Amino acid sequence: MRRKIVAGNWKMNKNLQESVALAGEIKSALAGCPLCGVEVVVAPVFTNLYAVAQELKGTPVAVAAQNIYPKPSGAYTGEVSAPIAKSAGASKVILGHSERRQYFGETDEFLAEKVDAVLAENMEVIFCIGEVLAQRESGEHFQVVEQQIKNALFHLPASAWSRIVLAYEPVWAIGTGLTATPEQAEEMHAHIRKVVEDKYGKQVAEDLTILYGGSCNAKNAATLFAQPDVDGGLIGGASLKAEDFKTIIAARA
Ligand code: PEP
Repeated sequence: MRRKIVAGNWKMNKNLQESVALAGEIKSALAGCPLCGVEVVVAPVFTNLYAVAQELKGTPVAVAAQNIYPKPSGAYTGEVSAPIAKSAGASKVILGHSERRQYFGETDEFLAEKVDAVLAENMEVIFCIGEVLAQRESGEHFQVVEQQIKNALFHLPASAWSRIVLAYEPVWAIGTGLTATPEQAEEMHAHIRKVVEDKYGKQVAEDLTILYGGSCNAKNAATLFAQPDVDGGLIGGASLKAEDFKTIIAARA
């Protein structure tokens, strides 16, 4: 079944106390507010994941890691594995974010390994794809996104797709205030669904949840979410304020 999801990527923001406070504010903001079938996710910094998960215990808000290393354990100084993130309370992992690709050199091939590591733990993947501005301007954006999906995800069996959520995040829209128009978002989401359908068939494609991310905020969320292939949002900056985040969730309900 296709799902409605609003996920907050807190990136490298909020220390321990601030993270717990924000989780508490989100908990209060959503208390007594019918979520209308919207799944809400927050992704704090690793060191704050356990405390945020504890704060949100007993609420429907899920906690995600922003990354993992693809080995389960071992001599990988400074890294965190999927089972370790899971033990701290994460049920999902964001992978392939453009900041990881850009600043940490993560390739599609490395991301494929990470996807396998997350799925091996029965966790969910929120997998980010998206083109940079030059690629959109040269008309390569459909091809770029298609290739990212094929390289990192097309080795999976059809059964694994029930634990994959895609997030289309045009890189030129992330943190820039430049949002894709609802039409640009819809045309790419429809393309993504077609790419998945061509490989896995109509049912897998229809059931796939595809989020939009990139300067999605309390003002523009409703028009983006009104598009038939936009199932929800991956929200950066606007997820750091509980009231804005609540408005975005309500726009998806
Ligand atoms: C993100 O980083 O996933 C994101 C969508 O950021 P922002 O909403 O701030 O553009």
